[in-house]
Amino acid sequence: MKKKVIITGTGLGGLSSGLLLQSKGFEVQFIEKNNQPGGRLNRLEKDGFIFDTGPSFFSMSYVFTDFMKLCGVEMPFRFIELDPLYSVHFAGGKSYKLHKDIGKLAESFKDIEPDFEVKMEKYLKKCGALFHDTFDVVIRNNFDNYLEYFVTLMKVNPEHIPVLMRTFWQQVNKYFDSQDARQILSLVAFFLGRTPFDTMGIYSLLSYTEFRHDGYHNVEGGMYRIVQGMVEALTERGATFLYNTEITSVEHAGDKITHLIDSKGNCYEADVFLINADAAQFRGKVLHRKKYSDSRLRKMEWTMGYLTIYVGVDRKLPDLDLHNYFLGSNFEEYGQNVLRNPDSLQKPYYYVNVVSKHNPDCAPEGCESLFIVCPVPSLLYKSDWSNRDEIVNSILNDFSNRIGIDIMPHIITRTVYTPKEWEKQFNLYMGSGLGLSHKLGQIGALRPKNYDEEFKNLYYVGASTTPGAGLPMAVISAEMVCKRII
Ligand SMILES: Cc1cc2nc3c(=O)[nH]c(=O)nc-3n(C[C@H](O)[C@H](O)[C@H](O)COP(=O)(O)OP(=O)(O)OC[C@H]3O[C@@H](n4cnc5c(N)ncnc54)[C@H](O)[C@@H]3O)c2cc1C
Repeated sequence: MKKKVIITGTGLGGLSSGLLLQSKGFEVQFIEKNNQPGGRLNRLEKDGFIFDTGPSFFSMSYVFTDFMKLCGVEMPFRFIELDPLYSVHFAGGKSYKLHKDIGKLAESFKDIEPDFEVKMEKYLKKCGALFHDTFDVVIRNNFDNYLEYFVTLMKVNPEHIPVLMRTFWQQVNKYFDSQDARQILSLVAFFLGRTPFDTMGIYSLLSYTEFRHDGYHNVEGGMYRIVQGMVEALTERGATFLYNTEITSVEHAGDKITHLIDSKGNCYEADVFLINADAAQFRGKVLHRKKYSDSRLRKMEWTMGYLTIYVGVDRKLPDLDLHNYFLGSNFEEYGQNVLRNPDSLQKPYYYVNVVSKHNPDCAPEGCESLFIVCPVPSLLYKSDWSNRDEIVNSILNDFSNRIGIDIMPHIITRTVYTPKEWEKQFNLYMGSGLGLSHKLGQIGALRPKNYDEEFKNLYYVGASTTPGAGLPMAVISAEMVCKRII
């Protein structure tokens, strides 16, 4: 008889695990608290507009391709490589298009950063070495104990030790002199949910993944096609999905879970249980583990919150790229404050994704779908969002000034998620957008494990277990936990 696995949560980590376990002969059932799958990788449809609600692009596309092959599934969505990768607009009006082609990129920097091409090649060489020396051996590996982890770390090329001692910002500063180049190249640290000033220099390996390795990709038809394609493939192979069902407790016999229990008291039985809800929060709130009590969770280091704005306008915005960053004129001050200080929102930095640029179906004819993301303090540092409309209006006004078009009278639809909505919808601790941070004490064997400390048939997958946040990492997280389960 087939072994049955129940996967709690339909985020990318959960869906990927389902595909792989199915291919190994498991019967798969999903339980999801929301009314549709995807978790943070989700979709909002309103007033004729379609918005991707979270991720808008991804790196390391080969992770998806290799994973689908491993599961014996035909690639269920089509992705497109981006060029330019994104645009960066400074407060003074200066803009840069970030191309993967370094020669082309150097053109934009020729007046402000002498020898840009040589410096960039040197920087990327180091980033590439960091990537190749750590990715397969450390990041993509399951460790059974601390000793095994530390022995592996000691085998990593010791020439990288100084980078471990530097922040991302310090690492970038070693290679570039101009403020523009430094700020642009350290933006990728924000993708890890912290800032260049408190993210370790080793994560400059991400500059290698964006510029040299595989660039960024967008999905034909919108990012939610990833979820739709995977759910279709899972359903065809017999997986079942139960929505609007939140798991709130468990029953066990000895060292094995026997049932999951939902908020209405219904019980669900299986041989194996895989949790795609946040691995730290679930252990604390549902399993009541001391190590993850409220006070312990509070002391852990979490990523920032996001204020996300979904706006449909009744006109085209031809001068914008698909991905656009709008920076202010106080990068260091902003970066030092944005995680904790709500005052930083007086002059917000933000990112604008024009979803309809590559996917015309996402907006009515002649209209544009805009998705705006603004990094903000999580609920740990800003719990009162009664001034959200004020903040949102200041962002929309700033954006109008920057592009020279007042979009306010053109807005047909507007939806806002503060960290409160992110917390409530997906059980994200304090609305932290990417889960636990990636500081030294919270990565590898020091991150919440992908297997449970007490119950032998309970496992975890997703952003707050190994290896960490981001779409390719969710897929790798699935690969890693399935190795344990299988
Ligand atoms: C605004 C934003 C922008 C982002 N942009 C990008 C990007 O451009 N590129 C990129 O690579 N990454 C991006 N990310 C990160 C990426 O979205 C996440 O790392 C990834 O989607 C997390 O997937 P996951 O498997 O951890 O699960 P999640 O997406 O967290 O899904 C977990 C699921 O479990 C469900 N659940 C939780 N608790 C329970 C329970 N008790 N019972 C039942 N169900 C439960 C939730 O409802 C949810 O559906 C972004 C994230 C955010 C918030």
